[in-house]
Amino acid sequence: MLVVMRHGATQDDIHRVVTIIEDMGYQARPMPGKERTTIGLVGNDGRVDGTRFSALPGVLEIIHITKPYKQVSREWKRASTVIDLGEGIRIGGKEVVVMAGPCSVENEQQILSAAHAVRSAGAAVLRAGAFKPRSSPYSFQGLGEPGLKLLAKVRAETGLLIITEAIDPATLDQVAEVADIVQIGARNMQNYALLRRAGQCRRPVLVKRGLSATIQEWLLSAEYILAEGNPNVILCERGVRGFDTATRNLFDLSAIPLVHGLSHLPIVADPSHGTGRRDMVTPMARAAVAAGADGLLIEVHPSPDHALSDGAQSLFPKQFATLMDEARAIAATIGRGMAKCAGVPS
Ligand code: PEP
Ligand code: MN
Repeated sequence: MLVVMRHGATQDDIHRVVTIIEDMGYQARPMPGKERTTIGLVGNDGRVDGTRFSALPGVLEIIHITKPYKQVSREWKRASTVIDLGEGIRIGGKEVVVMAGPCSVENEQQILSAAHAVRSAGAAVLRAGAFKPRSSPYSFQGLGEPGLKLLAKVRAETGLLIITEAIDPATLDQVAEVADIVQIGARNMQNYALLRRAGQCRRPVLVKRGLSATIQEWLLSAEYILAEGNPNVILCERGVRGFDTATRNLFDLSAIPLVHGLSHLPIVADPSHGTGRRDMVTPMARAAVAAGADGLLIEVHPSPDHALSDGAQSLFPKQFATLMDEARAIAATIGRGMAKCAGVPS
């Protein structure tokens, strides 16, 4: 439920509403706006009787949130959320933010080479996993902490922001020290202990859609993070499991406008995991930008045929440069630009 205050409501009026909400056993989240303050009520699992509030001084109206997710919904906040990622880069506004790099950090030379390639093609953020949640316990599991150290080094050398994955609460704390964005992978979308820890960290968090998650389950996972006090959540569509094995996943392009309607949070598209096929990544990236994605997550490897994970879906650096040119042109036709890395020159 939202209690919308009148334009001229006083601090006392606001405080009175907050106190009543707390007396009822819920939490109050006052949100000062340009025109008026809105006070959100959280902690309820069902409809709350709003009649206690309607007649109070300073109260304009009561809005009931009809969705099971509250703080992530457009009903809760009408304006799109723009998240400051650092180094002047923002996501959720006019600029499309491209995050690109290898699936995993493999060694210093590989990650540096990938970083320079994606930076010169125009990416703003370097992606690469140090902790890898692999379907098989026998597959490469990532370099772990030494991988994070390499990412910190590359960040300092290239000025690229870093997104990398946390796979449990302990690695989340390590990742949050180095990364500009913490990634929660598809396999962990419903790892609630991890989501809560992400909600307590100071970094923006990107939440990938689970392997077979509905849109509602995905938005409820994001809600966990907001409920813990971290408002900076980015959603990432990466395909869901379908009946056909012709592609790795069913890349759900319709999720982009759908989520924009349901939520104020930014949404990024990952056509690399969405299709699993190098030849389909660029067409789907073009389509995602056209559909209104606020960013792209693209796997790029200096030598995809030798990649330790996800080589078949990783672009060669030259292919990525073409993707960037095309994405830029499509963004321009819908009135958007591409976020640029303004940090240390390569
Ligand atoms: C990844 O980004 O490399 C990854 C493991 O993705 P997902 O969680 O979408 O499978
Ligand atoms: Mn991958």
